[in-house]
Amino acid sequence: MKNDDGARERALARVRRFVASYVAKGKYTLYPEPEVVENVVQGLTDHLAATGKMYCPCAPLEDSKQKGHHMVCPCTPHHEDIARQGYCDCALFASHDFVAAERLRRGDKGE
Ligand code: SF4
Repeated sequence: MKNDDGARERALARVRRFVASYVAKGKYTLYPEPEVVENVVQGLTDHLAATGKMYCPCAPLEDSKQKGHHMVCPCTPHHEDIARQGYCDCALFASHDFVAAERLRRGDKGE
């Protein structure tokens, strides 16, 4: 893993650009736990570096490969998952409502 470092860095930069641009579209935002988000970003990077595609990191890679582009981030089911539970299955993207509700639940005790 020497030459791979450069490839992984490029993959990581690409994933970060993708995530930022998807969030900038405004429909969804990031899941409100930065460590969780970072884990997903790293998982996407691993898959991108290994396969050339950002396969979902929270699904078995071989299954995702069989399903093809449906499981490339942003995967086909993420809209339904966010509508149902407030965030996508990997906990990368979340609805604005979910994030607002989480903020209220966690803090905002009115000091
Ligand atoms: S569950 Fe979320 S992070 Fe995973 S592929 Fe779908 S949209 Fe991307």
